[in-house]
Amino acid sequence: MELNATQYAEAIDDFLLKMEKLSGEDDPNYQTAIEKIGSLLRIALIKATFYMTPENELNKTGEDFCLYQNGTADMQRFYYQREITSSRNTIAYSIYQKADDPDWSQAEREKLQVLTKMLFVYNGRSRIMKLAEYLLFYDRDLKIYNLTYFKKHAEELISQNRISEFTACYFDLDHFSNVNQQVGIERGNQIMFSFVRQLYELFSDSEEEMVCRVGGDNFIALFYKEHTDAIRKFLEGTEISVDDSMQTKILITASAGFYLISDDCRTASDIVDRVSMANSVAKDLTAESAVFYNEALLQHINDITVVQNLFPKALQNEEFLVYYQPKVYLKNYELIGAEALCRWQHEDEIIPPGKFIPVLEQSKAICALDFYMLDHVCRDIRKWLDEGRKVVKVSVNLSRCHFGNINLLNDILNTIDRHNVPHQYIEIELTETTTDVSFKDLKDIVFGLQANGISTAVDDFGTGYSSLNLVRELPWNMIKIDKSFLDETESAPQQNRVMLKHIIAMSQEMGITSIVEGVETIEHVKMLKENNCFLAQGFCFDRPLPKNIFENRLEQLMA
Ligand code: C2E
Ligand code: MG
Ligand code: MG
Repeated sequence: MELNATQYAEAIDDFLLKMEKLSGEDDPNYQTAIEKIGSLLRIALIKATFYMTPENELNKTGEDFCLYQNGTADMQRFYYQREITSSRNTIAYSIYQKADDPDWSQAEREKLQVLTKMLFVYNGRSRIMKLAEYLLFYDRDLKIYNLTYFKKHAEELISQNRISEFTACYFDLDHFSNVNQQVGIERGNQIMFSFVRQLYELFSDSEEEMVCRVGGDNFIALFYKEHTDAIRKFLEGTEISVDDSMQTKILITASAGFYLISDDCRTASDIVDRVSMANSVAKDLTAESAVFYNEALLQHINDITVVQNLFPKALQNEEFLVYYQPKVYLKNYELIGAEALCRWQHEDEIIPPGKFIPVLEQSKAICALDFYMLDHVCRDIRKWLDEGRKVVKVSVNLSRCHFGNINLLNDILNTIDRHNVPHQYIEIELTETTTDVSFKDLKDIVFGLQANGISTAVDDFGTGYSSLNLVRELPWNMIKIDKSFLDETESAPQQNRVMLKHIIAMSQEMGITSIVEGVETIEHVKMLKENNCFLAQGFCFDRPLPKNIFENRLEQLMA
């Protein structure tokens, strides 16, 4: 049969134009794309067979896809062509003629060959696009979505005005490098994958909920708001099998930032910024394992950044001041000591330590500040001694961040000795500790200070976890009982008092002096005296005082 050249050219153009817009071999518009050329070449059926195995297994695993159907096919008369497209893939196209139609002419068969060639090209292109998409949107190690996919998906939901149905969560697995060290990277990846798979079980079947890997042990997830609580609990700690036998399990925990997405969120980057911000607060700045993003958090983070940026210069400019809070002997109300407390004088404002010390503790910058304080206290004591004043013992707070510094004891001694201050005038306050590692460091430092005639005090006693061990095993000079024991709560009005009484009695029996912090009222004073505690520090006597005012207190001592 003769083919009209113009019609053929038009049909090919139409075919190419429509193929251009298809998303792949499974696009339902495939049929329409082939329609014109199909009817011109009298085609009844085009079948594609994809083999995912080497050629010699062709017949075993092939699966047929119908690309085009128009009328009844004569199953005996067909044109067949196959092409090996890679070491693992083979494709074959079978083109069937219409039943009862005269056979294809030689010219028509040549055109069919051109058509299949074009189908091969199209198929190759769509596979490359799929591969490119895979590389773009998937994490290659875990074979789950990546951050780019998360953003694409979130952008789609934003454009559909549906994003506020969702919560985003950015989490990172705690101490996962330890897991990798124990079981190896390969197993580590499997454990990570099992964790993600178990997390998926909390989702509905919808493809709109997902966990995407950002990199390393960092993930970002998107799910319906009603799943937020369950996900939070899961991330607080879930047991994952380490081996195939499911015998050994390991507890995986994560720090997580959540964002209950609001309508005002206009871009996917906003979402990522907000959850990762909440995550870094969870990881570094709080004891909480989960933190929710909100406006106050933003302010909080701003404050932190400001402190971190200003600190080095402020230290250099000596903007930090030592305030001295008197410690008082309750039998005669005499000054028997003082605690050095830090204040930051910044642009006519006095900033209290609660605003900057927790921030500095994140970066070990606190260590520099503690030594600055010790240095200034020693400088003051030296000056007072040189002026012939009567001087009391001053306690200096030492953050736990110093543990791990093997030169800590020497650094302290050098600072004190540099100013030629007799050791009896210095006391070091340390807070309770919770882990074994820091307990060992704490022990070393307390024994070391004792051996050099420097007193040590447990600060905020009763607020940590290991109080009794701590007191039994280390030779403290002083227990500073936390001010919370003076609080009277409505639910248990007597409980704190009973505990306070027993802590005082216990320390007396152990031969350790105790002092109560936060003594605010005459009633507190009376109660302490009744319980045989005669040392107190608190607003009832003095607030932390600037140096010149504290010097007046020292004057009174002499009188
Ligand atoms: P801390 O060492 O337990 O210090 C006692 C805190 O209780 C001080 O707060 C003090 O002002 C406050 N206080 C004293 N008497 C009363 C009272 O009667 N009622 C109440 N409500 N509070 C009272 P401040 O000065 O704000 O210091 C807070 C914390 O900051 C300190 O707690 C200490 O942990 C830390 N800090 C202060 N200066 C330094 C420093 O130079 N280095 C380190 N590492 N930490 C410091
Ligand atoms: Mg203290
Ligand atoms: Mg304290």
